[in-house]
Amino acid sequence: MNRAKTFRYGGLSLEGMKAWPIPSPIANAFLPSSALVVLKQHKGPACRCVVAKGDVVREGSLLGKGEKPGSVHIHAPVPGMVQDILQVKLASGESVEAVRIDLKGSFDKLGKREERYIWKSMSSVDMVQALREKGVVEMSASGLPLADLALARKGVAVLVLNGVESEPYLRTEKTVLRERSREVLEGFEIIRSLVRPQRAVIALEEDDENELAEVPGILGEMESPPEKLILEARYPQDMPRQLASVLQPGRHTLSGEDIFILSPSTVLAVYEALVLAKPLVERYVTIAGGAIKRPSVLKARIGTLIGDLVEECGGFIGVPEKIVLGGPLRGEPVHSLDAPITKLTASVIALTNEETRSRSRNACIRCGRCAEVCPERLLPADIYRFIGKGRMEEARGFGLDLCTSCGACGYICPSRLPLVEAFQTCGKTKEVSK
Ligand code: SF4
Ligand code: SF4
Repeated sequence: MNRAKTFRYGGLSLEGMKAWPIPSPIANAFLPSSALVVLKQHKGPACRCVVAKGDVVREGSLLGKGEKPGSVHIHAPVPGMVQDILQVKLASGESVEAVRIDLKGSFDKLGKREERYIWKSMSSVDMVQALREKGVVEMSASGLPLADLALARKGVAVLVLNGVESEPYLRTEKTVLRERSREVLEGFEIIRSLVRPQRAVIALEEDDENELAEVPGILGEMESPPEKLILEARYPQDMPRQLASVLQPGRHTLSGEDIFILSPSTVLAVYEALVLAKPLVERYVTIAGGAIKRPSVLKARIGTLIGDLVEECGGFIGVPEKIVLGGPLRGEPVHSLDAPITKLTASVIALTNEETRSRSRNACIRCGRCAEVCPERLLPADIYRFIGKGRMEEARGFGLDLCTSCGACGYICPSRLPLVEAFQTCGKTKEVSK
């Protein structure tokens, strides 16, 4: 039996906040009668719109061309008519161009028998081209075009399929791995054949081993299966530097740059692009948190409104104190429930007052708890103090640039000081993973 491993310094145990049952099989969200497809669903510049008001589009038709570095193509998630091209606000508040499609006509792929293509006979040039054509993006951390990342990380030391979600409530990736094990592992083999890493690893959390019962069987059938890495349930176990320290403990020669981490959602999109010739038009989304009536993981079409997914989960219990995209520790605030989900929306978490532990701020009491939990071995209270006094050189000297914005210090601080917010506002923190 594999013994669970974990990183050495700092970290949090968030067990009490993590467990909630996920129904199986996962439900498909209702199809949106009107899909709002934004033309920026990646970290690079927005796509060029290639449709006009009144155009009839099919499921998977090209709506936006990703022509600039860092952009990917965007396709129609539903068939119908382009009802409008307009400016909308993303959940983050950013204003972007969007295409509104009124659902009409029949689906080309949904509910139809799928034709399969043999990726093993494709050249790597064709594979990269297929990833570009189908608009595949890295769906959890960087939001960059996967084709570019795969080329840039060729020959990387370790390629990791990350089945760990160490923040509370997040179940998207574990669900994708559980529900679509075979496709995910084939997608991982495709990307592995393209990247040709020195090692390939699948990371799982110890408590999930039973839930992912199919995975060992599928690994057993593989010619050269990835190594299985079992990790303790500890936050932030899934960040690059913490994963790197576990992959090569002791002399610690691996850095976060030496590993290329991909989520099950991303490699599922790889599988669908190359084996089913399907563009990226849907994704699994966790809708959870104490303020959601029936927490769920839903498979939703891109362009569905966040508010509609919340309604599908029974709506709110009372008034949520805070709604975030991502997890409670690292998530970004949601500014509007009328914003649509994009390729990068893995979760919507609505938190109660109790969960946000919101209460008035007090002065630092020098308790040292923030330093105890910092996985980067920084002294957050000191960095915060220097920032407050405008002494940026000293803040940097205390490791400001090494902060990964994991949020562990802010979570544990009994004085509720906005530590991470202050570090991020300085614009000097390097966000390694979201
Ligand atoms: S947010 Fe930065 S300073 Fe705070 S615990 Fe994480 S790495 Fe350390
Ligand atoms: S946890 Fe908060 S109160 Fe304690 S030392 Fe750190 S900043 Fe100060």
